[in-house]
Amino acid sequence: MKVNKAEIVISAVSEKQYPNNRWPEIALAGRSNVGKSSFINKLINRKNLARTSSKPGKTQTLNFYTINDAFYFVDVPGYGYAKVSKKEREKWGEMMEEYFSLRDTLRLTVLIVDIRHKPTEDDRMMYDFLKHFEIPVLVIATKLDKIPKNKKDTHLKRVIKTLEMDPNDAVIPFSAETSEGKEEAWRYLSNYLK
Ligand code: GDP
Repeated sequence: MKVNKAEIVISAVSEKQYPNNRWPEIALAGRSNVGKSSFINKLINRKNLARTSSKPGKTQTLNFYTINDAFYFVDVPGYGYAKVSKKEREKWGEMMEEYFSLRDTLRLTVLIVDIRHKPTEDDRMMYDFLKHFEIPVLVIATKLDKIPKNKKDTHLKRVIKTLEMDPNDAVIPFSAETSEGKEEAWRYLSNYLK
């Protein structure tokens, strides 16, 4: 995919703020600091369009990006940051529920996990949550450059097993450092944008 244009259009906290022109949409979710912004920026060839909105203290919003005036990427606020208050966590949950239950233009969600580590309980919950809403999921196992090449398969198997992934769902190893997995990710995403 050649990205000619990528712009943030809105940071939304509730449904009435979502864009309503019905372009197909791909959401991106993951634990705080997992490498979600780096994944988005790498895919759209920008250094810094997607910001780390998940950083502690920042407002938790759904960030809508238009890509090539044809579809949306939606950056979902990161989860699993320990120091978030109960109230903020609840607000996050309500925002997630509203978005994933109502958004009928959502075609696919990319769930980003760290290939170095066993997926966390939060990662499992996010995967189950998406399956519950019957949303197609692509798992991206990022930071591939941080493990030895000969460990790749073992680490991928651990991701699949820990998330108890549906055999029909794919996992793609990826690195924002080396761009490995970028073309494969775009090929996969493109199938959901037709
Ligand atoms: P976010 O909070 O999920 O958006 O995470 P960021 O994209 O800000 O990444 C968190 C940290 O991980 C940053 O220091 C990134 O430079 C680093 N990072 C992200 N992806 C990769 C990767 O594929 N390889 C390596 N080595 N570092 C990465």
